[in-house]
Amino acid sequence: MVIFALEMNTDQTQFELVSGLEIHVQLNTESKIFSSDSAAFGADANAHISPVTIGLPGALPKLNKEVIEKAMRIGLALNCSINQLNYFDRKNYFYADLPKGYQITQDNKPICINGHIKITLSDGSEKTIGINRIHLEEDAGKSMHDQHDAFSMIDLNRAGVPLIEIVTEPDIRSAEEASALLVEIRKLVRHLNVSDGNMEEGSLRCDANISIREKGSSVFGTRCEVKNLNSIRNVRRAIDFEFGRQVEVVSSGGEIVQSTLNFDADAGTTSPMRSKEEANDYRYFPDPDLPPVVISDVWLADVKAGMPLLPKQIMLGLMTEFKINRSDAALLADDNDLLTYFNKASAHIKHKKSLVNWLIGPLRALMAEQQISITEFLTSPVQLAQVINLVDEKKITQQIALQQLLPNIKDQQEDVESVATALNLFIAEDTDELEGFVDQVLEKLHPQVQAYKKGKKGVLGLFVGEVMKLAKGKADPQKVNAIILDKLK
Ligand code: ADP
Ligand code: MG
Repeated sequence: MVIFALEMNTDQTQFELVSGLEIHVQLNTESKIFSSDSAAFGADANAHISPVTIGLPGALPKLNKEVIEKAMRIGLALNCSINQLNYFDRKNYFYADLPKGYQITQDNKPICINGHIKITLSDGSEKTIGINRIHLEEDAGKSMHDQHDAFSMIDLNRAGVPLIEIVTEPDIRSAEEASALLVEIRKLVRHLNVSDGNMEEGSLRCDANISIREKGSSVFGTRCEVKNLNSIRNVRRAIDFEFGRQVEVVSSGGEIVQSTLNFDADAGTTSPMRSKEEANDYRYFPDPDLPPVVISDVWLADVKAGMPLLPKQIMLGLMTEFKINRSDAALLADDNDLLTYFNKASAHIKHKKSLVNWLIGPLRALMAEQQISITEFLTSPVQLAQVINLVDEKKITQQIALQQLLPNIKDQQEDVESVATALNLFIAEDTDELEGFVDQVLEKLHPQVQAYKKGKKGVLGLFVGEVMKLAKGKADPQKVNAIILDKLK
């Protein structure tokens, strides 16, 4: 086996990277693309199979309509044109985890074409990456070669799970751009509820096509395709390694041979699977078992009308509505779980701006401290809204809400006010009592009162703090402030 090794003594700065990605996204439908078998991940081997899945002769595929709809949604989000007349094609090849002897896919009539996506890079600049096409296909089964000494095992649960393949134009010029693109695509598929976007479970996988050319040149070099990258980090590593390797080859007078490569994640290197001469000839032809799919104008219009706002639009909306900065707005807009929580809580909140402030401020800090995400947060959106309302109504201080009320809401059915009452957390309404505290403090701190009267206004904070202590935190600091000022007049 050939494994490429690198010496890295060449001048890389003369060269430019050119890359295009083929991104496979497993759709999160309940059932498979051409059968009613469950498409769920993680079942016992071969629990989700049927005559269609195992390719028994005469078993007929039947299209799952939801797959078309999900592909349209992601296509619209990526600014593609939708092909309203779709064919499915057979891609013929022999492999043990493909019992039919062909994969059903789309060849020259993919469902979406000619789109683009904007990515933001770490220096704040924006870049547009073209989307060449998005096509639909079925996933293959899984071969396992490490379960038995003498045999390979096959699990066909994944066979027939719906996939879309997003093919970008060769517009990517750095590993950073590739990873920003994947982050953006993952965000979108999650936001649109098209896929869980989980790279560890293989719901999102990527092949990276990589070539180099001399800077300033406008022709493309010969490309190599690194297959099956299963993390964003590995995409970056594979691109960086291949770039270095190809520069080395070209600088030493060699030529790049068009080939398909494996990436070894432990070593961080690529090695050839097959060259162009050995490339498969798939003999594509339209699948006679499946009629063409016609997307009517009405159906397309319906899907368009049902598109939610995209994360970027939401971010801009939050920025203007709540006067928050871009990164705070992105915190909410880019996290689908947090956004869902926000929307649920919103329906019960008196001042939306407070909810935003809590979510990007103290609650984010709290979750970071406990190392949990919003889905693990014990307080329900309705309860949180009630807590924030109590603070906004000055019935409870923010500090007490965070330190004593929230940690004591232990179940999502619990009534927030009852918990606060039981723990005696409400701000004392009793002005007489507060005035008493103020008198005590001003008497005790007589020298400071004298200083205040001579113009040392800074000691006011000290008085407020002392009164709050006497009130065990259950007083409205502004009210305390007002009483003190009144008494000092
Ligand atoms: P094929 O149909 O043979 O797979 P495509 O033209 O559809 O080839 O391209 C597949 C992927 O390769 C696309 O993502 C495309 O952007 C990328 N690509 C094409 N040419 C190059 C090149 N010279 N260097 C890097 N990537 C390329
Ligand atoms: Mg290809």
